[in-house]
Amino acid sequence: MNRPILACKGCGATKPEPDGTPTDLFPSEHCGECPPWTCEDCRETCSATNLCSCWTRLDTLPLADIKALFAADDTFNLRPVTEP
Ligand SMILES: [Zn+2]
Ligand SMILES: [Zn+2]
Repeated sequence: MNRPILACKGCGATKPEPDGTPTDLFPSEHCGECPPWTCEDCRETCSATNLCSCWTRLDTLPLADIKALFAADDTFNLRPVTEP
């Protein structure tokens, strides 16, 4: 019997089968279906379409810090950057 895969811990979203994203292996903290949440770091209200300043600051982080960040908190599905 197939059990739905928990894809998001934030809103309890599930998906019926693996779809090749990191949530196949472990659920994300939040997803595009989540209602707005309060960021634990900056206490700003955060949502999938209006990310808090923690996310916009990623641009300036060293790559190692970004990797560590996503290793600890797989909030969004990252896809490899493809050449245009
Ligand atoms: Zn969600
Ligand atoms: Zn934040």
